[in-house]
Amino acid sequence: MTKQLRVGIVGATGAVGQRFVQLLDGHPWFTITALAASDRSAGRTYQEATRWILNTPMPPSIAEQQVLPATAEALSGSCDIIFSALPARTARDLEPQLAAAGFPVFSNASALRMEPDVPLMIPEVNPDHLALVRVQQKRRGWKGYVVTNPNCSTIHLVLALKPLQDAFGLDKVMVTTLQALSGAGYPGVPSLDIIDNVIPYIRNEEGKIESEPLKLLGQYTGQGIDFADIRISAAAHRVAVVDGHLEAVVVQFKRRATLEEVREALRTFRSVPQELNLPTAPDPVIVLREEEDRPQPRLDRDAGRGMATTVGRLRPDPILDYKFVLLGHNTIRGAAGASILNAELALATGYL
Ligand code: NAP
Repeated sequence: MTKQLRVGIVGATGAVGQRFVQLLDGHPWFTITALAASDRSAGRTYQEATRWILNTPMPPSIAEQQVLPATAEALSGSCDIIFSALPARTARDLEPQLAAAGFPVFSNASALRMEPDVPLMIPEVNPDHLALVRVQQKRRGWKGYVVTNPNCSTIHLVLALKPLQDAFGLDKVMVTTLQALSGAGYPGVPSLDIIDNVIPYIRNEEGKIESEPLKLLGQYTGQGIDFADIRISAAAHRVAVVDGHLEAVVVQFKRRATLEEVREALRTFRSVPQELNLPTAPDPVIVLREEEDRPQPRLDRDAGRGMATTVGRLRPDPILDYKFVLLGHNTIRGAAGASILNAELALATGYL
């Protein structure tokens, strides 16, 4: 039987924090024993401090827990590992303090993702990069460590790119995103800005989508990561959808591939989380749809309990090689579910 761990969530009251609470309810390995947020919430019960925005009820066992201040001191002794759903500016200072205090921290925040000794992980894509935590601990003198997951658009993009990179080599990628409102947290984008509208700008988003895949698809050297040599161009847009990021992708390969070979590479993609049968791992990883009008956010975002990436409209491209549309849940696989899968991999492979 796998070891049972007590988990804390920092940023527990926000959009991603609530997803952690929902996804960890009844988890076979992890039990929530600590919830922390800002000074606004600390000292109140979780129910009092949280405007619950999910469509399943707040778990009764969580509702009455008291929210703690998000400090290493307040969390000391209350949990074995920490999931972080903090804003990046808070995470930059607090996550290193938590790791120094001995906590393994699995973070959603962008603050430390591109640090050379911090693993940026998708368990199906680069499970071997987890070994970087030992370099991190040695370099920084930490008893704990920080592991990050990518930006919500990057995760689904790279899940689709990984089997293509392995089979054909990627040369160029162009991606246009149509991103859901929950990606901006709560309350997020003002309603009068987004109803009857599309906003062709999301601050800092395109840079993350262009840079994070190069680390994720890079090679672990034993000391750091050699970034992949791929040219990526991203254009990010906010649309009036609640959950589910849609991405129109065009790729150019290093080797020739037939349409059937591309289809087969996507359809058959399996990796370490599926082999280890991790509790949150989807199988299949990629749901390949053949209908002419799929994927769609409302119909496809819950594929694989929100952990799968749906790909459709796969076809040749007249300028580059192939194009397709992908869709993925941004607060499940794009955020909380991604951190939980990272922690499951860490536990199953001896890092916890
Ligand atoms: P959010 O709804 O604004 O929630 C922020 C959370 O952080 C709340 O619990 C808030 O507590 C807490 N917080 C704010 N300032 C704090 C402070 N100074 N000290 C301690 N806690 C503080 O944001 P979100 O959408 O959940 O995003 C959380 C993180 O995940 C961000 O880094 C975001 O970029 C990342 N992320 C989000 C998504 C997504 O789809 N939403 C996807 C991937 C990654 P109070 O309620 O007490 O203010």
